[in-house]
Amino acid sequence: MTIRMFGCVCGQYHSPAKALGMFGDRATVPLPFYVIEHPQGVALFDCGLHADIGKADDAYTQGLRAHDIDVTVTPEEAVARQLERLDIDPQRVRWVVLSHLHFDHAGGLHQVPNATVVVQRREWQAGFDRAVAAEHHLPRRFFDLGHQVKQIDGEHDLFGDGSVTCIPSFGHTPGHQSLRVRSELGDHILLGDACNNHQIAASRHFPYESDPRRPEMNRSLDALLSRAGAATVVVYGHDPDQWGEASVLPKARA
Ligand SMILES: [Zn+2]
Repeated sequence: MTIRMFGCVCGQYHSPAKALGMFGDRATVPLPFYVIEHPQGVALFDCGLHADIGKADDAYTQGLRAHDIDVTVTPEEAVARQLERLDIDPQRVRWVVLSHLHFDHAGGLHQVPNATVVVQRREWQAGFDRAVAAEHHLPRRFFDLGHQVKQIDGEHDLFGDGSVTCIPSFGHTPGHQSLRVRSELGDHILLGDACNNHQIAASRHFPYESDPRRPEMNRSLDALLSRAGAATVVVYGHDPDQWGEASVLPKARA
């Protein structure tokens, strides 16, 4: 049984560096999503940006720019195009495991209409609670599209064989989750926004300095890192160092 995995970058996020836990004035970070080819079907972990975002007349983009944030995505970086490049029909994607409901993780759902969304119940409920969704920036426009939704509570073995495991890592949002994947590439823990980059993992200076979520983020990250063995590769949520020339995961078929 061969389980393959690819890592794709669906655009870039530009903001003040401090908001990303990075140094300097401005920072640009990649927006990755992950493709897992399992004998039972194709699963994605997150799905990048909406294909229309970044356009000047897009209302959500205008809101981001008002907060000194911008995103850029080329047509080739859109989720469907990247899947086609991997010879995967977007219509055939069976599962999309969402780490959380932020626009840069759930935005591409519109391009995988037949997938079942796998999300922590408390994240999904947060997305439909007007006050909580507003506080955590969970815009329904990107995830409330009529997909089948499988709401899970805590750890979940996606294929029932231990190869792909959802691991709750609450803090960044109320029901954030991370993913462990055991594939032909070895053992990976995909942190999602449980930790943006390796500097934060070392310093624990989460970009929410005065935020009550910080202790919970620390606990979640500790719990995730304690699962890593010597050969486990930890993939951060938005770490430019992992997506340069030496990509942490293959972007194309060998
Ligand atoms: Zn996020």
